[in-house]
Formats: sequence, C-alpha cells, structure tokens
Amino acid sequence: MATHTRKTRPQPKRRLSLPNVTSRRMMDVVIHEDIKPVDVTVVPTRSAKHTPLEETLLERWKSLAPHDLASTTDIEKSIVYHTTYTLCRHRYNVDKTAMYSATSHSVRDLLLKEWNTTQERLHVTNPKRCYYLSMEFLLGRALDNALYCLSTKKEYAESVKALGFSMEDLLEEERDAALGNGGLGRLAACYVDSSATLEYPVWGYGLRFKYGIFKQIINNEGYQDETPDYWLSHGNPWELRRDDIKYDVQFYGYVATKMNDAGESRLSWEGGEKMYAVAYDMPIPGYDTKNCGNIRLWESQPHNLFDFGAFNNGDYDKAVNDQKRANNLTAVLYPNDNHDSGKELRLKQEYFWVSASLQDIIRRFKRSKRPWKEFSDQVALQLNDTHPIMAIAELQRLLVDVEGLAWDSAWDIVTKTFAFTNHTVLPEALERWSVPLMEHLLPRHMQIIYDINLFFLQKVEKQFPGDRDLLNQVSIIEESQPQQVRMAYLAVVGSHKVNGVAALHSELVKKDLFPAFIKCFGPEKFINITNGITPRRWLYQANPALRDIITETLGSEKWVTHLDELAQLKKFADDKAFQKKWMDVKYRNKQRLAKWISTNMGIDVSPDSLFDIQVKRIHEYKRQFLNILGVIHRYRELCEMNDSERSKVTPRVVIFGGKAAPGYFVAKLVIKLINSVAKVVNNDESIGDLLKVVFIPDYKVSLAEIITPASDISQHISTAGTEASGTSNMKFVLNGGLILGTVDGANIEIRDEIGEENIFMFGTLADKVPDIRHNQKFYGVLLDANLQAVIDLIESGAFGDASIFNPLIDTLTYGGDYYLISEDFDGYLKKQTEVDDTFRDKTLWAKKSIMCTAGMGFFSSDRAVREYADKIWNLKPIPSE
Ligand SMILES: *Cc1c(COP(=O)(O)O)cnc(C)c1O
Repeated sequence: MATHTRKTRPQPKRRLSLPNVTSRRMMDVVIHEDIKPVDVTVVPTRSAKHTPLEETLLERWKSLAPHDLASTTDIEKSIVYHTTYTLCRHRYNVDKTAMYSATSHSVRDLLLKEWNTTQERLHVTNPKRCYYLSMEFLLGRALDNALYCLSTKKEYAESVKALGFSMEDLLEEERDAALGNGGLGRLAACYVDSSATLEYPVWGYGLRFKYGIFKQIINNEGYQDETPDYWLSHGNPWELRRDDIKYDVQFYGYVATKMNDAGESRLSWEGGEKMYAVAYDMPIPGYDTKNCGNIRLWESQPHNLFDFGAFNNGDYDKAVNDQKRANNLTAVLYPNDNHDSGKELRLKQEYFWVSASLQDIIRRFKRSKRPWKEFSDQVALQLNDTHPIMAIAELQRLLVDVEGLAWDSAWDIVTKTFAFTNHTVLPEALERWSVPLMEHLLPRHMQIIYDINLFFLQKVEKQFPGDRDLLNQVSIIEESQPQQVRMAYLAVVGSHKVNGVAALHSELVKKDLFPAFIKCFGPEKFINITNGITPRRWLYQANPALRDIITETLGSEKWVTHLDELAQLKKFADDKAFQKKWMDVKYRNKQRLAKWISTNMGIDVSPDSLFDIQVKRIHEYKRQFLNILGVIHRYRELCEMNDSERSKVTPRVVIFGGKAAPGYFVAKLVIKLINSVAKVVNNDESIGDLLKVVFIPDYKVSLAEIITPASDISQHISTAGTEASGTSNMKFVLNGGLILGTVDGANIEIRDEIGEENIFMFGTLADKVPDIRHNQKFYGVLLDANLQAVIDLIESGAFGDASIFNPLIDTLTYGGDYYLISEDFDGYLKKQTEVDDTFRDKTLWAKKSIMCTAGMGFFSSDRAVREYADKIWNLKPIPSE
C-alpha cells in the first residue's frame, strides 16, 4: 500500500476551554512582579463559567488558533515560514540541514497541537497517571516517526519536493537522540510509543544529557576510539525548554531537628549546595490517535549563574565556577551497559533526576486538592532498573519531612505507588552505594534508608523469630567494609510489584536474586512481563517494502496496532507467489544494507550471500567472541577446501556492530579481533564472496533500522541465564529474519510462539550452567578441539601480532571460561552448518521467514504496556475522542 490517508474523525464532543497552541498548560502563566497588571490581563480559568469578557477573549483566541496543515500548500507555507522566521534563512541560503530543521519545526507544530489538547484533556479528566522513571531513553530519530504517526508523510514529502529537496535526504540530516546505552533505553522508547498510541496517560522522566552515548570510531588498527556525541550542536527541534518548570535539588549538608507549626519536632535536611533542575519536554506522538505522550528530561543549572563578588575581585574563573559544576552534572551519560561503576557523579545524577521528577509529580498531585491517602490512586511510578531506586527514599522524605505526614502513612503511600522492573541478574550491574558516600551526599536519605530497613527487619523478625540468617539475607544494608546499600533490595521492600522482563529471567529473579524475599512477601509480589518492541518503528517505518506487502495481503493496516493480526500470514507461508514476493523484499533490504556498507565502508558484499548479523552492545556475556571464533573456524575450513568443495559452500557475510564501554578492556579487544580477522578474510582473494566480515561502526537506532530488515540470520547467543530478555531478537524475527540463539531470555518465548522448527537453537541450558562452571573451576577447562585449532591459528599470527590477543584468549583458559564458550562451541558450529544447509533450500527458508513474522504478535510493546497497565499500574486509557 503506497498511500495512507488519515481517517477523518468526528470533532471532539467536548469543546476545550482554551484554544490549542497557547494553552496555559504549555505556558503555566507566570506573572512577573515588575509588570503592572492592567485591566485587560484577564486569564480565564478552566471552569465552565466565564465572565462575558472572558468569553470574548476565549473566542478571539479560538478564532486565531493556527489551522491544520491540511493541504500541501499549507505545509509549504509552514515550512517557508519556519525557514524565514524560526531559522532566519534567506531562500538562497537554505541547505539540507536548514530544510530538515524547518520541516521538523513545521511537523512539531502539529505535534504540539496534539500535546496541548492531550494535556487539557488530562487536566479536565484528572485520571490516574503513570510515570516511567528511566535513566535512558534511546529514541533515535523523530521526524520520520512523527510523519508516520500523524499520517502525513506523503504530503510532507511532496511539499519538500516542491521546494526543491528530497525527503530521503532530509531524514538523513537528523541526529539520533542517543540518550541511552542499549536495550534498556530502547525499551523505554518503545514503551512511551505504545503508551501514547494506546492513549494511556504515561509520561517518561529522565535526564537531558548534553552528550549522549559516545560516537564510536574504528581506527586504522581496528580498535574502538570514542569521541563525544554532540547531538545538540545543530539545535534540537524536538524538545521544548520549559523555563517555567524548575526545581531546587539539594546535595550534601546535614540533618537538623526543627519544630514544625504544630510544635512537633521534625528532622530536616539543611545546608549543602543547591542546583536547579530545568525541564525539557519531548512530545511523543501516538500512532493513529490524537493523543500525544511526553518525556520530561531534566537539565542541571547553577543557582548562582555568575558570582559578581568574585568577578569584581578579578577572579574570573571563580565567577563561573558554580556554573561549570552545575553544567557538568547532566553533561554525560555513563557509557556502561549492564555494569555499575559506583561513581559519586552518577549517584548525584540519579538523585537529581528522581528528586526533580518527584517534586514535579507532587506539584501536579497537589493541584488536584485530593487527600494524601489518594496519592497512589492518582500516581503510579515505575522504576526502570536500579538507577531510580533512590526515589523510594526521596518520596518518603518529601512526605514526612516536607509535607508533614506520619512515617507509617507515608510508607503506605510509597509502597502502593512504586513498582520495580529488574533487568539483569548479573551481579556487576546491581547498584550498591557505600554508606559513607551516601551519608556525605544524601545524609537525610541515609537515615531514612536505615529506618526503612529497621522497620522491615523488625517485621521479618516477628514473622520468623530467631532466623538470623534470613535477616542477613534480606537486609538492605550489606555488612561489608565499608557497608553498602543494596539498592535492588530497597526496591523490593519499597515496591508493590517486582517484575522480570522475560519468563526465564523472572524465574531466575525469584530463584537466584531474591529467594529470601519470597519467604517474606510471598511469591505474588514477583511477576513477569515479557518485553516488547513497537511495530511502528521496527516494521512500519524501518521496512516499508515488507509493510506494504503485509498490508496488501491482510487487506488493512489493522496489524500496525493489533500485531496479532500477523498470524493471518501463516496461510500464505506455502504460497509460492507470496514466498517470491516476500523474499524479493528481503533481497531489496539486503541490497539497501549492502549499498550502505559499500558507500560508508568501501567493502563490497553480495546480497546473494547469507547475511548473518550480530548487533548489540559488546559484552562478554553476549559472546561476540564465540561468533568471531566461529568465523575463524569457517575461514580455516574454507582455506583447506578444494574448488569443488568450495562450490558447495553457502556464501556468507558476517556483520557485527556495537559499542564497548570505554573502560571494558576485554570487550574492546573483541572489536579489535573482529577487525583483524575482517582485514585478513576480506583481502583473501581465494575466498572471494564465500566469506566477508564487516564491523559496522557506531551502531545506533537509525542504523538498526537499516540493518534489521536485511538479516537472514541474526545471532543472540548469550550464555544461558545471562541475557534477561533481549529485544533485538524480536526486531529481527518481526522482519522475517531467523534466529541462531541460545535457550535464553526472550529467545525461549519467541521459539514457543513461532515454532521450534523456525529457530536454530543450541547451547547449555541455564540450569546446567552453575555445575559446569563449578567443574571448570575445579578441574580446569578442557578446550574443544576445533576451538583449540582456532586459537592456534590466532597464536600463529595469522591475524597480526598474536600477543595482543593474549588477554582475550586467557579468558578461555586461565580465566576459567566463565561464559562457557568452549562448552558451547561444538553445538554452535553444528547449528551453523544446519543454517548453511537450510539456506540453500530457498522454498523452505522463505516459509520459515514468513512463519517468523507471522508468529510475532505477542512481542508488540502494545501488549507489554497493556500488561503493565493492568497488572501493575491499574491504569485506564483516556481516549482522545
Ligand atoms: C534494540 C536495540 C538494542 C538492544 O539489543 P539487544 O540485542 O537486545 O541487546 C541495542 N541498541 C540498539 C540501538 C537497539 O535498537
């Protein structure tokens, strides 16, 4: 289907009290004291009754509200308007970047209109709302997504063309909003997309990092270099700075006893330093709805912009010191994935973010004039992993110290409001903060955490008298030197629900992470909500060719918001004509990626080869090392073949992508090994197209959108029990790519949905991993023979100076092969052979590919968000009309 026109809709039944663009919500009218009020400054309230003067004013505003951009002429006018008045560009001086910006501003106008009506509607209905606290939102690009959501891409493309540009070019001008590391941040982005589409009143809260995840460059030696990502340097049309929304956030200082108005003594946090948190809003369009979601991101700002005293004394550096320190707080995103570095600046970021967010949420609640005990009827707070857990102590502090509630009433509110999503069982990723650091930075919170722990342990002691072991196991404070605050434990104690992100992971959360808490709370507190991805970005937008044949075959676009509809494709899995169409689309997507690789990297790959892709953060547990060792094995075998044997080989392009944390030495060495192997293999003329190895630099959302639709096979080969869910596995299968994977995370549920005959699985099962590790530790690692041969080849210098790779190879031998590469190597190679053989049967492969897409309905983030709304948030959609 080439066109898609927006359905005409009935007008909203209820006329809203203020016209669109200039609602008080957006401005939150601030009356400046230095401006004398004059008679005409009438600010009508939202009440139903207005004075005649107010009525006249409202009518006037209404009549002046900007119109829809209904025709391409309107759109052209709007773009020219923004070029002239927003960007101040003459028509001789409009380049692609300026045109992208003007177009984005024009689209933003449409979005803001929906943003404002959504806020008005929420203000009027005042429903329960959910706030998704996430350190990361890996949004990627906004323009294309907004155009699709507003169903106006065709019109904009025509308008842009009429003005002398191509939409394709403009889309490429946009920088990714890369405010995240990997899966966790991308999940948050998918969830706000689904929330907006399903019209749930959900807002995201996060930080506005000036530098998102670093830009990865692969240098001439094949190593990863990191450079800052200046994503905001051309301005960002998709965010709105809200100078009217600003809060104080305090650090350091001490705790004092104070009398309150009622003459009771209260503890109070005094002194220290303060910073401002200033809000930036990013509208999140919903698909095929007038509802618009929001992400509110905080930026740190100094209290004292400029120290005049210091300046006058000639100390110019000191004059801007405060400013520098405050600016640093939200400058950088920590580039770690599934790893906690325990740095003070990180704790400051976390507290700054949750404090500002809670102040904002409490302000909104107080406007409703409801009693505090109704707080959890109005507010649900979801903690996306351990990073925002300090919010539990902060809400308790705000309620007790600032709002004057009794401890127990406050704690009741807290535990009914918060829910916690665990994303990993890897111990190195579970945050712990040292007690001395906490006492220094957040002295009052440390006391509160001690009290939370004390009251909790007293309850446990009452329930299980004399069970000292149990008390030690569940204590929020770890008795180490120095003592540590176990943040995940605080989350379990302070939340009403704890969820894992895939079925197996949720079982491991109960069994390995929090077994003692099951004893205290019972199993009902612990639930599973399997992750999902948004079909809008990951199929509709990323794979237009597949989108069109799906819509054509199913006869409607219903599947875009009801992904289960894809099951109807199963009927066509054996249909030869449909198979051909389907595989033609795959071929075109492979051509698109091949062209990208050729243009950007100068490597030519053939779309006739099997495209084998592994793109994700580089981490030992994800085992890119296993993949490249398998590639070396393949190369070794190819080298030993004669021509007739080679003629039977399935040609393969092995594509890697992903960033390693800058301090993660072993992961960076894996990148180096991949690039060293690529250099040798790609330049071996005797091998030709039979094997190519490509490392695509700077993997990010916009690249994922080109890479994902082009896979024949993608690899999700984590050591069983280590990948909580994975979401790129879902993206690939949704786009008709088969999986080569381990029995881990969401791979298992994908298998159950698409059928085990449509997925290539291998490897040790999760429940066997501990024993094998134990034995390897005890008896040493007995290396698989093929693996030994691969190591020998590396050590022979076949891929350059072998000594470089010693630390990597040591992880297999002296390191005890913690991730079971040797144990799984043989199963991996055998499955790869099966992949090669199956790929040669084009009909069978086409059928499997269709069955993959057809079985993915369950993995829509729409389903996941509904589950959160029903099982955790108790949240209802607020229809936009
Ligand atoms: C989906 C996605 C991820 C997550 O990939 P996994 O394989 O699930 O770890 C990471 N980065 C980007 C850019 C993504 O789009």
